Amino acid sequence: MIASITRGTYRSEDDGDDTDDETAADDAPGPADGSSATLTGDDLVLGYPDADQPVIDGETITAAQGEVTALVGPNGSGKSTLLKGLADQLTPDAGSVLIDGEDIHTLDTKALARKLGLLSQESTSPDSITVEELVYHGRYPYRGFFEHVTEADECAVDNAIDLAGCDHLRDRAVGSLSGGQKQLAWIAMVLAQDTDVLLLDEPTTFLDLHHQLEVMDIIETLRDERDITVVVVLHDIEQAARHADTVVALRDGEVKACGPPEEVVTEELLVDVFGIDAEVDSTDRGPRVTPLAARHDDPSI
Ligand code: ADP
Ligand code: MG
Repeated sequence: MIASITRGTYRSEDDGDDTDDETAADDAPGPADGSSATLTGDDLVLGYPDADQPVIDGETITAAQGEVTALVGPNGSGKSTLLKGLADQLTPDAGSVLIDGEDIHTLDTKALARKLGLLSQESTSPDSITVEELVYHGRYPYRGFFEHVTEADECAVDNAIDLAGCDHLRDRAVGSLSGGQKQLAWIAMVLAQDTDVLLLDEPTTFLDLHHQLEVMDIIETLRDERDITVVVVLHDIEQAARHADTVVALRDGEVKACGPPEEVVTEELLVDVFGIDAEVDSTDRGPRVTPLAARHDDPSI
């Protein structure tokens, strides 16, 4: 048993939350059951105990069912904080998070983990476990404390490894992988969790161009073929514009713009949110962004 994987909604198997073990297998959705959900953060106030001011101070965000919503913004603008709040990894000081109108706080840990998966930026796992073992941990919300691996688990793990394109890494120890390879293994783990809603914090950051495109392809497949609701933090605004249905731009914890890529990704927004001069051209593939210069008159970025 592995007790210290601390990424996403995975909790160690001995976290004492096995109150719903009997029902876990019964209402498990199973791989690719086509269900989906709308995720809403309503008037959320999110912060950290050691800080005076909240990072997010009363923002509302909706990730529409079966769509890709991209969060963009400069470093420290609150993207990860917002994602953690939406995933119940950070308890809101005010406001609520709803999945299809249901407050996620009414769900126990495993029930929530069957609906919503988070790939966060911080990951820790024992170096000695294999990629396959890591991916099996994504199945934790479907298993009771003493239950063995089921056919559904095997199927979900195989599908997830296949979709993440890391079959060749399956028997490798996680500790022996490069940053990008680890990222693929973590993506496979969260895919095996088989949720209606998927929150991904910078899933492309450590990846080479080929693998970045692979990950964006996976995201589009999840949306188009499985109707999964995806919220993804992306550094590359052009990538966000090309692949997302909705772009949400954050600055200083505030949602500055939210809407279709061609409405949000404008030269004005790039000045306001990122403090850069850029040229934005409209193309068949969405807005093309050519960054020109960083503005130096904006000390807060
Ligand atoms: P982003 O993901 O957009 O780079 P974050 O949400 O990580 O931004 O950070 C937003 C703000 O919250 C920053 O000012 C950061 O310093 C602060 N912050 C993030 N994590 C913590 C934490 N664990 N404790 C205190 N402050 C934090
Ligand atoms: Mg972040």
